[in-house]
Amino acid sequence: MTSGRLSGKVAIVTGAAGGIGFETAALFAKEGAKVVCADVNEAGVQKSVSKIIELAGAGSAIAFKVDVSKEEQIKALVEKAVDTFGKLDIMFNNAGIMHPEDDNALNTEDRVWDLTMDINVKGVWYGCKHAIIAMRKSGGGSIINTASFVALMGAATPQLAYTASKGAVLAMTRELAMVHARENIRFNSLCPGPIRTPLLMDFLNTEEKKQRRLVHVPQGRFGEAIEQAYGALFLASDESSFVTGTDFRVDGGLASSYVTPE
Ligand code: NAD
Repeated sequence: MTSGRLSGKVAIVTGAAGGIGFETAALFAKEGAKVVCADVNEAGVQKSVSKIIELAGAGSAIAFKVDVSKEEQIKALVEKAVDTFGKLDIMFNNAGIMHPEDDNALNTEDRVWDLTMDINVKGVWYGCKHAIIAMRKSGGGSIINTASFVALMGAATPQLAYTASKGAVLAMTRELAMVHARENIRFNSLCPGPIRTPLLMDFLNTEEKKQRRLVHVPQGRFGEAIEQAYGALFLASDESSFVTGTDFRVDGGLASSYVTPE
């Protein structure tokens, strides 16, 4: 049962083959948006679109292959959304990587650092840039960039490039929110806590590694991708019309905690 919270809106979701991106694209479509699902994983994003069409009907979603770190591909993605559905109202820059060889200051190699920055930071910048160009033509919009709780809290389990990249997303989003505030374009960062998606579970592949994190989460569990989707839905919809420049945390209380319940 949905209430059409995004009726008449056009959205792009990057990383739509993945956990958070798929759940969000599906929820946006169920709430009435036309959704362009974008991902570098072509087969994966096609699968997402087939599932979304089953849930929300024919014409609710299309697939687009994109590498977000390539500006000309992002430009083509935004043009596809506008050509197909007439405008762009919502841009969810959500694609991101957590490289398995990302480590501490001494062990992280340049190629890991550069790849992480190209996708997680430049990809978000390009997404914002081309969404701004489209949104200026339609009178405004909402841009949501996926950061992470690791941009707000220190972790002694290092992934230096990833952490730095997500800090950059927060700072960039805040500044864009200020620069474009009078153009009716809102920018917010979504800061997920640890979520039970393949990205994290492949990395936390033993019970001990999982418990090393869960002791710090006040709610005592990993989040679900759908819980991020509901946060993104609020930021995408007109219900958040006076919300811009925030680090919007959906983290089970993690970034507010000192001592957690036993
Ligand atoms: P996921 O791995 O399931 O999804 C990420 C998607 O991004 C994948 O489908 C992948 O193919 C796509 N992608 C990777 N590189 C790309 C590129 N160059 N161009 C286009 N698409 C590309 O992970 P997820 O958990 O759904 O992560 C989504 C976002 O949430 C990421 O930005 C991630 O950093 C962030 N995040 C995740 C967690 C977590 O616990 N899972 C926590 C905090 C933040």
